[in-house]
Amino acid sequence: MLPNLPFDPSHILIGGTWRGTKDTLPLINPSDGSTLCQIARSTDADVNEAVAAAQDALDGDWGRMSAMERGRCLTRLSQLVLDHTDLLTTLETLDVGKPVTQARADAIALARYCEFYGGAADKVHGTTIPYLDGYTVYTLREPHGVTGHIVPWNYPMQIIGRSVGAALAMGNACVLKPAEDACLTALMFAHLAKETGFPDGALNVVPGLGSEAGAALARHPGVQHLSFTGSVQTGRIIQTLAAENVVPVTLELGGKSPQIVFDDADIDAALPFLVNAGLQNAGQTCSAASRVLIQRSVYDRVAAAMVDAYRAKSIGPASSNPDIGPLISLKQKTRFETLLKAAHDLPSIAETPMPADLPPQGAYVQPRLYGPVPPDHPLAQDELFGPVQVLIPFETEEEAIKIANGTIYGLVAGVWTSDGARQMRLAKALKTGQVFVNNYGAGGGVELPFGGIGKSGHGREKGFEALYGFSTLKTVAAKHG
Ligand code: NAD
Repeated sequence: MLPNLPFDPSHILIGGTWRGTKDTLPLINPSDGSTLCQIARSTDADVNEAVAAAQDALDGDWGRMSAMERGRCLTRLSQLVLDHTDLLTTLETLDVGKPVTQARADAIALARYCEFYGGAADKVHGTTIPYLDGYTVYTLREPHGVTGHIVPWNYPMQIIGRSVGAALAMGNACVLKPAEDACLTALMFAHLAKETGFPDGALNVVPGLGSEAGAALARHPGVQHLSFTGSVQTGRIIQTLAAENVVPVTLELGGKSPQIVFDDADIDAALPFLVNAGLQNAGQTCSAASRVLIQRSVYDRVAAAMVDAYRAKSIGPASSNPDIGPLISLKQKTRFETLLKAAHDLPSIAETPMPADLPPQGAYVQPRLYGPVPPDHPLAQDELFGPVQVLIPFETEEEAIKIANGTIYGLVAGVWTSDGARQMRLAKALKTGQVFVNNYGAGGGVELPFGGIGKSGHGREKGFEALYGFSTLKTVAAKHG
């Protein structure tokens, strides 16, 4: 059951006003299949209105605010988010099925994004350029205008923080389309932004279906930049729609990320990262380390330790704070189980025990570890988006690099080795947006730019880099006299 909310979850926020929509959609708790509430099913007309309200904000109070004032709004919002960590955690636990500890970490990250981008808002500006005698040349960083943010269900708070936070810092006015499977924290965030005193229309939220509200936003001629996080298939649609309006798109898509363990690694230090980076959020993480490449001489040792770890994990409803909760929905469970059928020729080497008393309508799947798996096997190539990892043995450094780079994706790689020269060689050779050496994820720091290459997408969010992505550069060349 939902706790008391300071907003109506079936409403949308446009131009500072909450209102209902013609139709609604049920929001399901994946831990037990119960209906939590109805949410808005925004239409083309609602999205048109949201984009117009965002443009009004740019032409009005929001557009007139200084960078310092925008930063202060975000800093105040950061504190309000922190003050409401418990409620945000509960909401994420209910509609994403995310275990309490993981949901709380996301709420704290959302506050940190607002803090970081609040502090950065007035620190990104242009440069002066020495040019011909008689000229003064400088550049100005300016907002794109109205930015569209289409967000998935797996890390709503983190992704809203990194994209909406950076866009607001640079003075854009945002239209946010959260996922239909999980939008409560997006609505709560919008409520808190309104409380903070953001001018009306600086942030508008239109929940609804991807094929309706999402597509309406992606093809809207009034949107000047799109930030999309989600699947490769949808990313392709978004980029095509954006191309019609010739607007830039940031695509943060999927992955099949490797962690590579060499025989000179501190294996005890690596083990928790090897397992948890695969199972966090029930494996529904774009940067999940779903492939673990292990040098042959230590393969048996690492595999045995991972088997033990899988058997020791707990599964249960999100509110009981297990290691692993349900998937987001029964639909996602069916998709996952269909993809897993590719493993029919491979027995799993470990499974996490499923408790007998799991709610029957919950979207639970059994975590499974496979190995050794050939690198070109579908299980080692396709993003399953569930709690499954494959172990792939290798002999040499060259072979490890070839296997690691051998998928359509290029999001994250982890390298475990004590050889400094090898660390540098791997960091250069791996075709990914991020390489983590003797760690995986670096604690998720908001300061670290993040994004992919290949089918993992393009553009960077997080860190200072996002502020360049959410702004455009104007060159001014003034001739003296
Ligand atoms: P999805 O593509 O189905 O949905 C993501 C968002 O797009 C949702 O808000 C959805 O409503 C919307 N959408 C769907 N169809 C649309 C359309 N035709 N037009 C416009 N919008 C549309 O993805 P998902 O299943 O919700 O998320 C899982 C995927 O996201 C995985 O592939 C995962 O790897 C990826 N992901 C990537 C990152 C990253 O930073 N690279 C982070 C999280 C998730």
